[in-house]
Amino acid sequence: TASSTNSPQFDNSYVLLPAHFYSKQTLAPVKAPALIRINQALADQLGISADWLESPSGLQVLAGNEVAPGSLPIATAYAGHQFGGWNPRLGDGRATLLGEVIGKDGKRYDIQLKGAGRTAYARGGDGRSPLGPVLREYVISEAMATLGVPTSRSLAAVTTGEYVMREGMLPGGILTRVCSSHIRIGTFQFFAGQNDHAAVKTLADHVIARHYPQAAEAERPYAALLRAVIARQAELIAQWQQLGFIHGVMNTDNMLVSGETIDYGPCAFMDNYHPNTVYSSIDSGGRYAYGNQPGIGQWNLAWLARALLPLIDADEDLALQEAQQAIDDYVPQYQRAYDQIMAGKIGLSQADTESKALVEELLQLMATTNADYTLTFRRLAELAAPGEYEGDSVAELAELPASLSHWITQWEARLASDPADARKRQQRMLRLNPAYIPRNHLVEEVIRAAVDDHDLQPFHRLVERLAEPFRFDAADARYATPPTPEQVVARTFCG
Ligand code: AMP
Ligand code: MG
Ligand code: MG
Repeated sequence: TASSTNSPQFDNSYVLLPAHFYSKQTLAPVKAPALIRINQALADQLGISADWLESPSGLQVLAGNEVAPGSLPIATAYAGHQFGGWNPRLGDGRATLLGEVIGKDGKRYDIQLKGAGRTAYARGGDGRSPLGPVLREYVISEAMATLGVPTSRSLAAVTTGEYVMREGMLPGGILTRVCSSHIRIGTFQFFAGQNDHAAVKTLADHVIARHYPQAAEAERPYAALLRAVIARQAELIAQWQQLGFIHGVMNTDNMLVSGETIDYGPCAFMDNYHPNTVYSSIDSGGRYAYGNQPGIGQWNLAWLARALLPLIDADEDLALQEAQQAIDDYVPQYQRAYDQIMAGKIGLSQADTESKALVEELLQLMATTNADYTLTFRRLAELAAPGEYEGDSVAELAELPASLSHWITQWEARLASDPADARKRQQRMLRLNPAYIPRNHLVEEVIRAAVDDHDLQPFHRLVERLAEPFRFDAADARYATPPTPEQVVARTFCG
């Protein structure tokens, strides 16, 4: 057992659930762990001592070599639809939940190791993770958090001093992942699939108490739970869309009921805009293409609804009616959220027919001209009040296509008829339209440096650059520049 000096104060609730919700996890130590990075700011928010994380005993815990006092390591059971196909038994195959802590905000957070060894649910897998996907998840999850998207966080990354077998021998890594819970749509499906209604109810009550306490007050608490999850998922996917984020594996086991993004495997931010964009090497059918994400979100939620049906109402017809209505309402909820954010991105405070038409036309023009999604919006923010803009300009990084000029004239006319102060509007746009996103070629570049050259400095620099995505600095232009055709990384892989 690791020294208790400054170690986290665990307060575990999931282990209090029935024994078949999880399996106790025994440690699978690694040979020579070494610290890559600690997330100081996150440690502070969680009330976890960064000094302890960086200490020798902290390292042993982050590597899964020792159990911290109060930690009761478990792997959780879940099922899920993977690419549309039902898998009744998945579970954390390579993730170990160390326990829960109460953050300084009073909220509960899971502390989980990813890549710490085989679990009861590992099936044929080795329970390990190569270093590359660990770095990838660290960079992208933290960028997402900074961009304001609900997401799992990365508290720490370590190397294991061991190799894992993938397409060759690759150095191993372990990520310490934090989120408000790791309960998935697939966790509900696991029990529903076995007609274990008592377990579905126990899980639903746990989720209500933990994430949606207001649902307990509703006339039909489980319908209220379903509606609350749907509302958060609609908001979440609207955020993905507005940033050009493609999750890549929207299986029901990768969708948290808390509404946070999780499982940064083959995800990527798109460079040039096109709704058919797919990065994941395993998504050959394009099921999880950018433009399909909102619809897949609804499909996934329908499985949650189905799992909750027996709890919603004893009368089957009433339960079905209620669930169907909640699922139908996802569409306008998503649309409202998306339209509102997109109106904001072009400087309009309210979404209306005109703003929607402008956004749609802009996206169509972008799709036909291969315009860079991120920099087009960023450039529009500069142009919203050209005389007022004092920062460095992205103009040279991505010239706006000439065919946009007619659209810009229309847009400027719309802005001119808007009563908002031009300078304030520009400030708002500059805070909504990042200059820096974790572009795929940049993520690949830092992984190559780490894996091939044992150089982690590019990784650290990228993490630090992405911590301030809304202030463009011409000195760091390379981090904002779209890839050249030779630099494009069109395919991403699972860990
Ligand atoms: P994912 O595609 O990352 O969501 O993983 C799907 C399922 O495979 C989950 O149950 C994972 O825990 C499991 N899994 C993925 N990689 C491994 C691995 N290397 N060892 C054991 N299980 C794994
Ligand atoms: Mg058990
Ligand atoms: Mg997963």
